[in-house]
Amino acid sequence: MAFWYLAHADELLLDVDGADVQLERGGTRLEMFCRRRLRDGIVAGLLKVKCVTAAASYTPGHLHVCVTLHRPMPTMERLIWQSWLGSDLYRSRADLMRAHRGHAYPSLLIAPDRYPRLRDPDAVCSCAGKHPTVLAEGVAACPVWAEYRGPSPWECFGAPSTRPDEGVRVALRVGRWSLDDILRV
Ligand SMILES: [Zn+2]
Repeated sequence: MAFWYLAHADELLLDVDGADVQLERGGTRLEMFCRRRLRDGIVAGLLKVKCVTAAASYTPGHLHVCVTLHRPMPTMERLIWQSWLGSDLYRSRADLMRAHRGHAYPSLLIAPDRYPRLRDPDAVCSCAGKHPTVLAEGVAACPVWAEYRGPSPWECFGAPSTRPDEGVRVALRVGRWSLDDILRV
């Protein structure tokens, strides 16, 4: 089973990767980018937070965090806050692109279990394990995925190269870069 939480207008949904990773400046990624920035937003009167709920994601060391706000917030503002509060940057940028493209559900989290002490999920599918980032041959096997998932990061920005010779380094300098250089292996 997979439990789908679509970001509501009064929610920030964060996917904090490496929640236990210690950073050079002190504190874990979760503590520095989520807890401290959340604190600063609240203290500045910019975030009116009702409650914060965290749960384990599919991936060890990742944490899903839901910040429930007292009032609804416009979509773009919510997505920018999510990014600022330490949600995975790849996901955050794809969320922004999905919103820009007018997708109805630009931001969501898929959980292996119902989040304890959080509202009910918006949808449940019978899939076991983590959903793929992109559709196999453009076909969604999961009807919930087909309904709620918008363009994947790869559809937004292009798939990362899997070429075996990717290790070749291209020297880039100050000045105008040639497209030939950019497009080299
Ligand atoms: Zn599914």
